[in-house]
Amino acid sequence: MSLLRAWIDSANDPATDFPLNNLPCGVFSIGPQEPRCGMAIGDFVLDLTALEHEGLIDLPGGPYLDLPFWNEVMEAGPQVWAALREQVTALLREGAPQRSETEPHLIPRRDLTLHMPFLVSEYTDFYAGKHHAVNVGTMLRGAENALPPNWLHIPIGYNGRASSVVVSGTAVRRPWGQVKGPDQTTPAFQPSRRFDIELEMGAVVGQSSTHGQPVTVEEADAMIFGYVLLNDWSARDIQGWEYQPLGPFQAKATATTISPWIVMKAALEPFRTSTPTRELPLLPYLHEPRPMLYDIILEVALAPQGTAETVIARTNYKEMYYSAPQQLAHHTTSGCAMNVGDLLGSGTISGPEKGNRGSLMELSWAGNEPFAVTGGTRSFIEDNDTLTLRGHAQGNGFRIGFGDCSGQVIPALADPYARNK
Ligand code: CA
Repeated sequence: MSLLRAWIDSANDPATDFPLNNLPCGVFSIGPQEPRCGMAIGDFVLDLTALEHEGLIDLPGGPYLDLPFWNEVMEAGPQVWAALREQVTALLREGAPQRSETEPHLIPRRDLTLHMPFLVSEYTDFYAGKHHAVNVGTMLRGAENALPPNWLHIPIGYNGRASSVVVSGTAVRRPWGQVKGPDQTTPAFQPSRRFDIELEMGAVVGQSSTHGQPVTVEEADAMIFGYVLLNDWSARDIQGWEYQPLGPFQAKATATTISPWIVMKAALEPFRTSTPTRELPLLPYLHEPRPMLYDIILEVALAPQGTAETVIARTNYKEMYYSAPQQLAHHTTSGCAMNVGDLLGSGTISGPEKGNRGSLMELSWAGNEPFAVTGGTRSFIEDNDTLTLRGHAQGNGFRIGFGDCSGQVIPALADPYARNK
């Protein structure tokens, strides 16, 4: 597949995240105006709410774009998703006859504020990257017991909190929590000293499933609307004390940051790839009928306040052992219903080499091997550091990107229970 040329020059730049092939879905506002739906194209956002209002976009069963989130479009289903892409492509491609009517609805991206692109109905986080699971398991339990006995059979996950999902650019306050080190006899309540990131992809569920009715991997793939970058902020010291036996709780509940753009599955279609070779056979309900992972190049950058950023990790989504459709199919085996707006975190995406590790805990090996950043070293996040995830699929002369997934960690409250009078 090659670049689809648009009449917007910046959309034809091979370095843009947002060529006409991409058309990712976001929500934006200008100044005090109400937020509205748009798609990123080159250096601009196309105001879809206005285009639908003016009849330049006319979707079967619509309107869908009159609310400041994408859930209605998602719920409308794959035929509407395809019709939307087809109509927007026709408006923007080189030589499009409606250029003069469309052009007034392009807004420079630098002039606007981006918001959460969809209402998150529920959030589930998985632990499906093998390199990450082996690294963390080795640190916690030793190399012999690194992978739990179920790991090669089940995409392990836990139910997180939709209320904690925030859009890129939202500041993240260092949390307080209960911690107890191995040398301490009693726990303490204090600000987390081992605050961390997790480099993940998020799958956005666009179609619901029926309570009591499991779905196949193929059906699960069809239910997914698109993907976002996802940083699952994690307090390792809180996690280490609380996680047995029910898994993470408050360690993961501070915030989960997503990129402002949902890249639709159709834009990623040319980059489908298979999950890695199975080390043990999976039960039939988890078999992938065709490639369901994507070749997406990922990186993490850390910038201390007022200092240039350093790229601290590079990896690829194709390192995941389980794909999002496998995770979604597994999620429904109990009869659990999935809803429009469900968000699935992939689990941390690390690769085989040290520079491929998708968390600071792995990069610094639990703090024992601090790594260099501009102006110093890091083991875990320090106050006022900004962490940014980036990702793109590389096509022939174009790329499909997600925009930055970024957040600054601000200092913990002096007293979390102090109340203003
Ligand atoms: Ca996670």
